[in-house]
Amino acid sequence: MTGTDISDLRKIGLSDIFDDNWTRAIYSVDASHCTVKPLAVNFPSDEYEVQKICNLAYNCGIPVTCRGAGTGLLGQSLSDGIILDLTKKMNKILELGEDYVIVQPGVVKTVLDKELAKKGKFIPPDPASSNYCTIGGMISNNSSGPHGLGYGSIINYVQGVELVYGNGMMGFADQKNYDQKISKMLKYILSLNVDIKKYYPNVSKNSSGYRLDAIFENNNNKVYPQKIFLASEGTLGIITSSRIKILDIPEKKSLIILRFENIFDAALEVPSILQFEPVAMELLDRGTIMEGWKADDSESRNSCIMIVEFYGNENSFYDKVHKFENNLRNKAKILDSGYDKKSVDTAWNKRKNSLNSAIKKTIGSRKPTGIIEDTVVHPVILHDYLIFLLKILATYNLDYVIYGHAGNGNLHLRPIIDINSKSSKLLMNTIAAKVFKRVVRIHGSISGEHGDGLLRTKYIPLMYGETMYDVFKQIKLIFDDKQIMNPGKKVL
Ligand SMILES: Cc1cc2nc3c(=O)[nH]c(=O)nc-3n(C[C@H](O)[C@H](O)[C@H](O)COP(=O)(O)OP(=O)(O)OC[C@H]3O[C@@H](n4cnc5c(N)ncnc54)[C@H](O)[C@@H]3O)c2cc1C
Repeated sequence: MTGTDISDLRKIGLSDIFDDNWTRAIYSVDASHCTVKPLAVNFPSDEYEVQKICNLAYNCGIPVTCRGAGTGLLGQSLSDGIILDLTKKMNKILELGEDYVIVQPGVVKTVLDKELAKKGKFIPPDPASSNYCTIGGMISNNSSGPHGLGYGSIINYVQGVELVYGNGMMGFADQKNYDQKISKMLKYILSLNVDIKKYYPNVSKNSSGYRLDAIFENNNNKVYPQKIFLASEGTLGIITSSRIKILDIPEKKSLIILRFENIFDAALEVPSILQFEPVAMELLDRGTIMEGWKADDSESRNSCIMIVEFYGNENSFYDKVHKFENNLRNKAKILDSGYDKKSVDTAWNKRKNSLNSAIKKTIGSRKPTGIIEDTVVHPVILHDYLIFLLKILATYNLDYVIYGHAGNGNLHLRPIIDINSKSSKLLMNTIAAKVFKRVVRIHGSISGEHGDGLLRTKYIPLMYGETMYDVFKQIKLIFDDKQIMNPGKKVL
């Protein structure tokens, strides 16, 4: 430990701090295949306790990393410093207005969903991990999910944040008010005098790097400084509360389950389905279906399923849905159509279970492995991109699991390998380099919603180029001059 020990944390009045082997082992893993043992774990009660820890950590140079549910897939919440678990005590809904909610970061998304539903409201981003993941984790990874197609990622909903910076200073950012660090950041970005957006991909969702492109809109007329924290993975500051826009739950929902002969036929159809403006378009291929989808139709066990969902309030809503079904009838088999809440919810639960067990699938020491599991390209080129991807895996004779948010061009592809074998690890790096190079060339992103974490950060210079990567480093220093906020993520 750098210049202090655990008793120093107790001395400053923190009682709920643990450094026993069990606790450190539990917090040494997340939903990735990485392992990093932390120094200690604390469960802060409020922003003042977070501040105390940051003050001490800043003086002693100890890393501080927040943790929500630890469902991040790239090692984002792992660190050898102090872990702040915000789920135990900083998990409250603070204020519920007509069109917004203010929450502490440790609130679980489904818990919030249930409260909002009582008022007929919702926050659309809905990761498959919603039963566990927290709002703090969602903001910090810029999470999305199936309804990202119709509604975008959580970046579209966060109206303001309060935080504690690495030096213990309290901060705040919304469209009208922001602190000195934010001011410095805005001045710095404007001083670059470049069109930031040209460095960013041409896709509908992106969790790679820092989202400078989202801060300014309409030729700098509108400024959303809070968006710098979206996808920042706790590397700039610790969010202690956030104000999030909420929407009315639509009156009508309809969900159609289609079966295509194969995944290529499904991908080819994506642009034409998009013309019907669905709010979700999910793809599950053979491997994923076989893992969890208990389809009655035995044929579907060898093909590809696509879930297409529509929301609406207008009287003509069902006419649009029937038009869609008629249009698709000669291209795919309609396995099921649901026009009520119960059947729509059942289908989504089936999908959740299906991919949850697909991710956990193991064959001996081999299992589905991330790194290229979250690329996103423009949906118009999804079919060609898919051919490219699967050709690479065929070259190395690799089995895989694939599903994804087809309407966004966001595919979750995991080759099945033994990540503990040195040669497989090298192979995975070779594949990642090839895939990411192509993704960048076709103006896609290496991460649509999962983020960078320990595993993907080294590819950020490839994604944005050295010039923008240097800008990211400067941004990091503005907020975190001693680089103690979740180091090793976003910039190295
Ligand atoms: C089975 C499965 C399915 C998934 N499906 C989806 C999906 O459909 N869509 C999707 O987008 N993602 C998905 N994910 C990824 C993951 O669940 C999301 O990124 C989720 O939002 C992470 O939330 P968490 O609470 O677990 O965060 P954690 O993993 O605990 O943390 C994530 C990051 O947020 C930081 N952080 C947490 N709280 C704060 C805070 N208060 N201040 C600053 N930084 C903070 C952490 O330091 C870390 O860098 C899935 C994961 C799994 C395991």
